[in-house]
Amino acid sequence: MSISKKSFLDLSQHFASDGFKAGFTLRSFPCSSPNDRIRFAEELSLKPSKLVVPKQIHSNTVYTCHREGRVEGVDALISGNRDMVLSIQVADCIPLFLLDNNANICALIHAGWRGTVKKIVTNTIQEMVSIGSKIKDIKALMGPSIQQCCFEIGPEVAEKFPKAFLRNGELDRSYLDLQGVVQTELIDLGIKEKQIIFLSECTSCHPEMFHSYRRNGKKAGRMIAICGWV
Ligand SMILES: [Zn+2]
Repeated sequence: MSISKKSFLDLSQHFASDGFKAGFTLRSFPCSSPNDRIRFAEELSLKPSKLVVPKQIHSNTVYTCHREGRVEGVDALISGNRDMVLSIQVADCIPLFLLDNNANICALIHAGWRGTVKKIVTNTIQEMVSIGSKIKDIKALMGPSIQQCCFEIGPEVAEKFPKAFLRNGELDRSYLDLQGVVQTELIDLGIKEKQIIFLSECTSCHPEMFHSYRRNGKKAGRMIAICGWV
């Protein structure tokens, strides 16, 4: 998709689902926690009072939301009703949006390499199915994240991934295609390839658009991903 001059990406049209909204902030979005999420929810006409805000720890823990507010130690959120507004923060990791339009179930996953190795994507989809989703109805969208061009890793990380998703770098370094890993996992779970949308902008390559942990280190800002029904 084309790069917008606005301060966030409205991803809702990718889902073409009545009343479902999804968005992703850009670097220019005025960020100061916790007001940034409230403001972003308002921008998308989502109810700020229904925000769920996880404390993320690169785990494979999935939380099915029954009430708004903070949740400790989870990296995937599921909403099984149209009432909750899901949010996560990322700065290179993949923000993975999932929607089952028929069952009115959505999920938002913070998928970095650690959570992906621990199968957070599979855990989330299994949980969606256990509360009424059908695999054939699930649509997935991977938001802006660090791409293989910049995702340099050492051998201790590379050994956790199939060779097909690695490109050789200098000495013992490799470059990881994490989006490819996640896409393959989704397809192996039974999600059709045409139901998987993939935004190919690299967060590390575009300093004018995105914060990047890889590029800016610990002081890097964060982007917010959010979804829910109006
Ligand atoms: Zn890049």
